[in-house]
Amino acid sequence: HADIAMYRAKKLGRNNYQFYTPAMNEESLERVRIETALRNALERDEFVLYYQPQVDLSSGQIVGMEALIRWNHPELGMVPPVRFVGVAEETGLIVPIGAWVMRTAAAQNKAWQDAGLGRLRVAVNLSARQFGDPELIGGIEAALADTGLDPECLEIELTESLFMSDVTPAVDLLHRMKALGVKLSIDDFGTGYSSLSYLSRFPIDVLKIDRSFVADITDDANDAAIVSSIIALAHNLKLSVIAEGVETAEQLHYLSSQGCDEMQGYFFSRPLPAADFEQMLREQRSLPPVMSLADETAF
Ligand code: C2E
Ligand code: MG
Ligand code: MG
Ligand code: MG
Repeated sequence: HADIAMYRAKKLGRNNYQFYTPAMNEESLERVRIETALRNALERDEFVLYYQPQVDLSSGQIVGMEALIRWNHPELGMVPPVRFVGVAEETGLIVPIGAWVMRTAAAQNKAWQDAGLGRLRVAVNLSARQFGDPELIGGIEAALADTGLDPECLEIELTESLFMSDVTPAVDLLHRMKALGVKLSIDDFGTGYSSLSYLSRFPIDVLKIDRSFVADITDDANDAAIVSSIIALAHNLKLSVIAEGVETAEQLHYLSSQGCDEMQGYFFSRPLPAADFEQMLREQRSLPPVMSLADETAF
């Protein structure tokens, strides 16, 4: 990781300089602390993946999960991604961290499948920064080969920012990624500023409706209209659609009435540590085939 070493040297120089700057505030101090500790977190095995279920609306069953990173820091405790993913992206550390996420999520999902817990799908978040990594495609391929996970069970979440400016390297990379057999989704759909034309030019499979739209669908007619339009757009393009941030039965009912395929949110479960997620999968399998959600969606 020569690039990281170089970056480290550059950053250390700047941090030393910052150390003597009187204007340094709490925020930049916290940042420096995070950045320094982040460099050792991988080798100290401090990252953890939590898993949040994705529920199919027609069956009411968990059909997939999103892997979400946390940092179990010895002093800071469980650090949420909002506090370190940005720093990891700026420093380039997201490249080795992202590779770890991919491998760990694939291995965990395969283990659950082997334990008879169902043919589930696992989604991982990919930072735009990881597209600059020449090892990206080979890394995904190796993670699949080494874990034995069926490529169809791996979903890679991209953000609209990837499609915003010079898309030529991205289009080639996405086709190479797609050629591995994985699914591609657009995370936080509707919050970016990109043109929609990329949806027909890129091999996308799934749109994830951003939770900011879902939050107000039951009392904001405009958000409700945006959500139903995204669902129609996705289906017209033969894409499947999942709503993020579903917290209430009312939101579930509206999304269901509009034909949304899948949902993810606190209404079903918060992201859980692997052991708790596994427990939930086992409990689901012990339930009769028609789960309580079927009642929720009957209308
Ligand atoms: P995201 O990919 O959009 O993930 C969904 C976020 O929404 C998660 O936050 C999840 O806990 C939260 N969420 C899910 N359901 C609900 C709900 O019903 N209500 C509310 N209020 N929130 C809900 P989390 O885990 O804190 O992750 C935040 C972001 O950090 C992610 O947003 C993603 O952009 C980034 N992230 C997480 N893990 C990774 C990773 O492994 N790699 C990269 N590059 N980014 C990651
Ligand atoms: Mg995501
Ligand atoms: Mg999202
Ligand atoms: Mg996000």
